[in-house]
Amino acid sequence: MDANRTRVKEMSIARTMAALEKNNMGAAYLPQAAEVVPTLQTLLAKNDKVAVGGSMTLFETGVIDLLRNGDYRFIDRYAPGLDAEQIRRIYLDSFDSDVYLTSANAITEHGELYCVDGTGNRVASMIYGPKRVIVIAGWQKIVPDLAAAVVREKMVAGPANAIRLDCDTYCEKNGRCMSPVCDGRNLMALPAGACENSICCNSVVFSRQRQKGRIVVLIVGEETGY
Ligand code: SF4
Repeated sequence: MDANRTRVKEMSIARTMAALEKNNMGAAYLPQAAEVVPTLQTLLAKNDKVAVGGSMTLFETGVIDLLRNGDYRFIDRYAPGLDAEQIRRIYLDSFDSDVYLTSANAITEHGELYCVDGTGNRVASMIYGPKRVIVIAGWQKIVPDLAAAVVREKMVAGPANAIRLDCDTYCEKNGRCMSPVCDGRNLMALPAGACENSICCNSVVFSRQRQKGRIVVLIVGEETGY
């Protein structure tokens, strides 16, 4: 990226961080993805109970490896061989974690996080339970507003996750949502039941927080995750 585009990117990141802070969320900028693990090592304490939401960002930035090999009590939802009941127990136990690590589907320059879940365990834990929530997100997830966040999810995050999870949805086969728009009166812009195997089941906007600093957002200056 040339210096001018880098400057534009960094101004957008600065606007977003300032807005997140006005909404009582912490914010920090990590120019390189390689800074994520060392930064987390300073934010996590030995023996912290740590849980994670479903996120490719956490794999790509080395966070899952850090948690598996570090001095933490990691509740590993990705451990091989877990059955459905064991995973359900992990999701419930995650509410009682010291730190919950995850990503977001979009971050608006108004200082909001936009997260869309299938099962809903991620957004539930982000809303309530864990003492701290750390969101790690590549800068490409920054959008001007919520309408753009909805469209981003339908054009990028939703289809990529549907392909990853083999969900047999329109977006898995076509690389975009069957209705890739935002309708102010119908958020999903879909007739009820139109996407039979939808993974876009729970759309949550995190705006101003009551508990200052519980959610911290680390914006990475390299593209990572969906
Ligand atoms: S609503 Fe359905 S088609 Fe649209 S992004 Fe979500 S899963 Fe894909």
